[in-house]
Parts: sequence; C-alpha cells; structure tokens
Amino acid sequence: MARHSVTLIPGDGIGVETSAAMQQVVAASGAQIDWEVAEAGAACMDIHGTPLPDSTIEAVKRNKVAIKGPITTPVGTGFRSVNVALRKTLDLYVCLRPVISLPGAGGRYDDVDLVIVRENSEDLYAGIEFEEGSEGARRLIEFVDESGAGSIRPDSGISIKPISVTGTRRIVEYAFEYALKHGREKVTAVHKANIMKHSDGLFLRVAREVAEEYAGRVAFEAKIVDAFCMSLVMDPSQFDVVVFPNLYGDIASDLAAGLVGGLGIAPGANIGKDYAVFEAVHGSAPDIAGKDIANPTAEILSAAMMLDHLGELEAAARIRAAVARVYAEGRCLTGDIRRATGLGGEPARCSEFTAELVRVLEEM
Ligand code: NAD
Repeated sequence: MARHSVTLIPGDGIGVETSAAMQQVVAASGAQIDWEVAEAGAACMDIHGTPLPDSTIEAVKRNKVAIKGPITTPVGTGFRSVNVALRKTLDLYVCLRPVISLPGAGGRYDDVDLVIVRENSEDLYAGIEFEEGSEGARRLIEFVDESGAGSIRPDSGISIKPISVTGTRRIVEYAFEYALKHGREKVTAVHKANIMKHSDGLFLRVAREVAEEYAGRVAFEAKIVDAFCMSLVMDPSQFDVVVFPNLYGDIASDLAAGLVGGLGIAPGANIGKDYAVFEAVHGSAPDIAGKDIANPTAEILSAAMMLDHLGELEAAARIRAAVARVYAEGRCLTGDIRRATGLGGEPARCSEFTAELVRVLEEM
C-alpha cells in the first residue's frame, strides 16, 4: 500500500479532539499516512500573531492534500475568516458535502442521499465589505445614488455580492461532471434570481447554459432558494446533486445535516484544481470544546473522503462500514446522537466512541 503525506490542521475548539480521533481511526483503517501538522486559527493567532501562517499554506501546497479541524472566526469584529482565506489562496472553488442517511444517527428521514456542491470563492461570502461611515461606504453610496440603481441609507455597512460567469460555469460544470462520474441523475441549481437579477440571475443563466451541454445525460432543474428549503425539509429524497452559490450552500449544508442526525456526522471537502482540503461541516463548537464529548464522526467521514481522493478506496470503505456498524449497534454513541435519536442512556465520550470504532476496524 502506498504511503501518503498529508497536512493536518487540527484548528480550534473541538478540532483538537476530533482530529486526534480521526488520526486513530485512519491508522486502524490500514491507510499509510504521514501527518505533517500545521497550525491555523484563533489559538495560533494568540501564539504567533497571525491566524494563518505562511508555513501552513506552504505545507498544504507541498502535500497537495490536507485535512483540517474547524477554525473559530470572531463574530462582527476581529480577524477575517481563515477558512475563506485558505479557500481563496489555494483556489479551492468547490465545497463538496455529501448528505446521506446513517441508520441509528437519529435522522428525520432514512432515505436521504444527496450531494451539496457549493461555490466556494464568490458571493457575499467573499467578505468584500465596507464599514458603516468609512470612505469606501460613502463613495459607494454616492455612486449608487448617481447611478439611479437605488438608494442606500448613509449609515449603512455594505457587503458586496459578486457572482461571475467564470465562477458559476466552473462550479456548475463540476456538479455535472460529479453527477456523471458517480452515476447520479439530476442536478438542481438553487438561486434567488427573481430578486437579484444580476448576481443570482447570472448564476441561473449560466447554470442553464451548462445544463444544455449535458442534456440527455443528466437532468436539470432550478429552484428558488426559499421554496427549495421547504421542499428539502418535506422530502429530501427528491434531490440528487444540488449546486449553490456560496451563501445559500453554507446555510443549506447545516439544514441538510439536521435532517440526517446533525452536524456531528456531516463531512465535507474543499476542492480546487491543484489542492484539496477536507473538513467537517461543523464549527469549533466552543460550548463543548475540551470536554471529550464532541462527535468526531464528521471529521472521520471527511477523512474517508480524503482517502477516496488519495485512491485508498478500500481503507475509506472500511471506515464507512465501521461507522455504519457502530451506529447500527447503538451501544456507544456520543451525546448529540443520543439526543437526536431520543434513546437516552449514558452518552459515550469522544474517546470512547473512537476506541469502539478502532476496535470494530481491527475486528473487520
Ligand atoms: P458550530 O458548528 O461550532 O456549533 C453549532 C452547534 O452544534 C453547537 O451547539 C455545537 O456544540 C454543536 N456541534 C457542532 N459540531 C459538533 C460535533 N462534532 N459534535 C457534537 N456537537 C457538535 O457552530 P457555531 O457555534 O455557530 O460556530 C462556532 C465557531 O466555529 C465560530 O467561530 C464559527 O465561525 C466557526 N466555524 C468554523 C467552521 C470551519 O472552520 N469550517 C465552520 C463553521 C463555523
């Protein structure tokens, strides 16, 4: 079996615990990984004065593949999102998030099998902003007034929502290519083009153009985001591959995770042409950090996606099978899942759940 060098960014909060759990499970899967640990996040900021050292970017570039724990982003003030910076610097333009029912995880449905393809580099999420009262905000307000496009109150903070033809084309093409490669039948594009004609409208127009190129091979439909949310909650089985602009994809990811058992089990990946960074959907969960009660499944399933990417399909399949077995047995599950299933009983600690998973893997 080949050895692989992978950058590991444990991140903040529960990332420290879930990353350690993930490493143990990957080791038990039989995959041969050399971990190169790199720092980023709020704790890194306190020690090194930067939340994203150049050495961390270099480490990801060197290994081309990384897995990261979540990183705390201060709300409202403070440093800008390290996740956004990492995605931008490495041009990780795809955020890929499979949402699949896991029997025993307490999901609302047992037939969810969809894939979220979220654009990862544009939209309001790009973080292009002008503070209320700043010179930039003042000039923009003046420009908007003069343009006749509308008016903005003088005491407004402003966030810009750029959506480009290039950015949309490549994410929608990725969604269709993913569908073809994985035998999926339909791509749904989600938008609010009725209101935002020049950003979401562009997204929808380009999505339709790309869909034409795949006509007869992959079906296509478009949904307005509010109606999409209702349809998703009422019958998630109707969706297959769903492609979103950045912000709607962010929100829909948590919504969809909530349908299958919660953030504790939702994996993901940020993928670009040259690099891939795997990470769970959830954040650093400061409310439960350091208590050994976080659910590491999401990061462990993100590692399974990483192993697929590295061509270690057998190790990835073993991890998924072991997770499925531990959830189906239901004896050793963390508190979030016990609450979701309504099973009650003593929740397993993060370390106990991990040990159980390792035991099952060694038995398989
Ligand atoms: P969160 O995802 O950290 O937590 C939301 C809720 O889900 C909390 O109650 C938490 O305890 C629970 N939860 C999350 N993951 C869990 C797990 N693995 N096991 C059990 N319970 C889990 O969202 P938040 O509280 O809004 O954000 C906290 C911080 O994380 C913020 O600074 C935010 O910016 C950051 N964040 C980072 C990423 C990332 O690095 N990719 C993603 C989302 C949020």
